[in-house]
Amino acid sequence: MVYDCLIVGAGWAGCVLAERLANELNQKVLLVECRTHIAGNAYDAVDQHGIIVQRYGPHVFHTSAKHIWDYVSRFTTWNGYVHRVLAQLTDKTVSLPISLDTMERLYGRPFTAEQFRDFLEQRRVPVETIANARDVVISQVGWELYELFYENYTRKQWGLSPEELAPEVTRRLPVRFDRDTRYFDDPYQGVPEDGFTSLFERMIDSPNITLRLRTDYQSVAGSERFGRLVYTGPIDEYFDCVYGRLPYRSVTFRFETFERERFQAVGVVNYPGEQDYTRITEFKHLTLQRHPKTTICYEYGAAEGPPCYPVPTEANRRLYERYSARAEALDGVHFVGRLAQYEYLNMDQVVDRALLVFEEIRTRG
Ligand SMILES: Cc1cc2nc3c(=O)[nH]c(=O)nc-3n(C[C@H](O)[C@H](O)[C@H](O)COP(=O)(O)OP(=O)(O)OC[C@H]3O[C@@H](n4cnc5c(N)ncnc54)[C@H](O)[C@@H]3O)c2cc1C
Repeated sequence: MVYDCLIVGAGWAGCVLAERLANELNQKVLLVECRTHIAGNAYDAVDQHGIIVQRYGPHVFHTSAKHIWDYVSRFTTWNGYVHRVLAQLTDKTVSLPISLDTMERLYGRPFTAEQFRDFLEQRRVPVETIANARDVVISQVGWELYELFYENYTRKQWGLSPEELAPEVTRRLPVRFDRDTRYFDDPYQGVPEDGFTSLFERMIDSPNITLRLRTDYQSVAGSERFGRLVYTGPIDEYFDCVYGRLPYRSVTFRFETFERERFQAVGVVNYPGEQDYTRITEFKHLTLQRHPKTTICYEYGAAEGPPCYPVPTEANRRLYERYSARAEALDGVHFVGRLAQYEYLNMDQVVDRALLVFEEIRTRG
């Protein structure tokens, strides 16, 4: 069989493009995925205790773009979950991002927006040239909040001190001058009512799409015939890492189940202190599942393991650009998604990029 398109990777990038090409252009698509399941890092499944868990850490869909929400909502209804995150400090639990609510709990006194602005104004450290992730934070909130919320957390997550990391890591530092305790302020947010995996199943349910799990790109590249290639795996691997590997920070997950209904007050609690884990997720908050038991997941930053976060340093950016230049010179090959673009992207951003690539294919052929 000759396919119009070979798509490598059945995460957001691959499945959105498979769906669009199959349903809009009536193209025959071969979708290969090296893992045993679809949905990429958004994969969820029921564990041995009957609890729905997200195997690769907590995933909440959120976007401010109506067209993205409308597109994804063709394949699911939403459970109405609003994401809330707490930070467990030594003697207090406060909400994140830092808001008036956080400040009041921290300092045990009322804060107005103006008082919070004054507070920051007095503590901000003037930094002439922002050179690293620490500079970003101290220049916005000062040493005290930096040490409380960012210093250890960043070190645990990245295995590097904030001074060694590029400003991008903390560039968008959300500080709120109101009492909004939602983690995301996007108007559209939630978790699919029957999970992300079901959403993906519906998305690629087309006679035009042939799915092959446990299948690596290398094993089909030479043997299958196809017109176009959409590649959503790591860009360096596509080019046999000829310039060297693009470094990633990984995450290790440790799951634990308890014989009780609730473990913690919200879906995610961050631990910016001395503990070796960065955060704990309790999935039943996200999925709204009712069950007498509960499963939680500890997250640890890790040097080894599946690629999770591109490490934003100047050297890595230059290395990526060498691969990207080679990618651009190829005809009929599209590099889409977080691994192919070596960029931390939220799910809605990946959907957006995939839809744009589809429009490009549709208009230019
Ligand atoms: C811990 C964590 C939490 C996150 N939480 C959120 C969140 O709450 N909200 C949010 O919007 N985003 C979140 N994200 C980001 C989200 O995971 C990504 O935006 C999304 O997974 C990107 O989709 P993708 O298709 O680009 O990549 P992926 O989901 O990684 O899909 C790529 C697929 O390609 C496959 N593949 C790779 N190489 C090959 C090969 N050679 N052959 C065959 N298959 C291959 C992989 O197995 C994978 O399944 C989180 C990320 C992490 C790490």
